[in-house]
Amino acid sequence: MQDQELVRHAALEAVRKAAEVCRAVQSNLLDSSSMEKKDKSPVTVADFASQAVVCAILAKHLPEIGVVGEEDSEELRSEENAELRAEVVSRASKGLNQTLSEGAVLDYIDRGNGDPAAERYWTLDPIDGTKGFLRGEQYAVALALIENGEVVFGALGCPNLDNQGKRGALFVASRGGEASVRDLWHANAVEDRVRVASISAASEARFCESVESGHSDQSESAEIAERLGITLEPYRIDSQCKYACVARDDASIYLRLPTRKDYREKIWDHAAGKLVVESAGGRVTDINGATLDFTRGRTLEENRGIIATCGSIHDEVLAAVDAVRSGSA
Ligand code: AMP
Ligand code: MG
Repeated sequence: MQDQELVRHAALEAVRKAAEVCRAVQSNLLDSSSMEKKDKSPVTVADFASQAVVCAILAKHLPEIGVVGEEDSEELRSEENAELRAEVVSRASKGLNQTLSEGAVLDYIDRGNGDPAAERYWTLDPIDGTKGFLRGEQYAVALALIENGEVVFGALGCPNLDNQGKRGALFVASRGGEASVRDLWHANAVEDRVRVASISAASEARFCESVESGHSDQSESAEIAERLGITLEPYRIDSQCKYACVARDDASIYLRLPTRKDYREKIWDHAAGKLVVESAGGRVTDINGATLDFTRGRTLEENRGIIATCGSIHDEVLAAVDAVRSGSA
């Protein structure tokens, strides 16, 4: 198989199988019989098991490429987390359809400690939108391949996002190609091309943002929307599903406005989504109009916030963001 084909094949299998694990944990969590377990442990199980599944599948197909993932197994190895650990091993084994030892699962999780200074590496958010996951709402399994600081491949598995009347959408993009969506749960599902909105004025746009007001400044976004003449209510949705929504024209703008000066965006929260939006014809920058810089390690050290749009209105949105943030609104 050609390298590019192998990358796509491995990534799609990894995201699909991890999403199956997440879906099973989420449905268990929402089952009224386990409501008393509504603490952080179910999500922790899913985060770790999802990372183990993705890393195991990538290691099988492309052992030479490292993974920079959100999780590592350090806490999970401690004595007091024995029960949690056993559940992670069980979920990961089920997801991979093989019986794995505890050591093997922990080692797979730690394959996510890859070096972001490498020429080529994957970046993985095993569950992006943890808060949405816990609420029974939207979340994503986000995987991207970075080469020399450029995102060259992205896959966004969105288990609860509608796709032609069915839950579960998988968005895929390769640099230089188109963005597509398919059913998340079937290996050979048909791909449909996705394209951003074709609007010429921001006043026609709908914008999306985080559900969590701690992740993006919602009062500032309301001011920006007003300045742009936007009358539609914001579409609040967790995770990189926001990028998917801009890519397929559920919304035309994604605003992620810093709530804290010291916060730096994580590479795994944006790499896959950025390529999906760009490949669908859109534009992605930070709030100052700067290109996202994936050469600075695990964070987007040089960037602040995120603005993703359908493209045609990007400069207009950046000007409004600038005006509101500099206080000239
Ligand atoms: P969302 O679902 O879009 O609200 O984003 C979820 C992501 O927000 C998580 O994966 C975190 O990495 C990230 N996050 C956590 N704290 C902050 C913060 N203060 N500002 C921006 N993003 C954050
Ligand atoms: Mg995340």
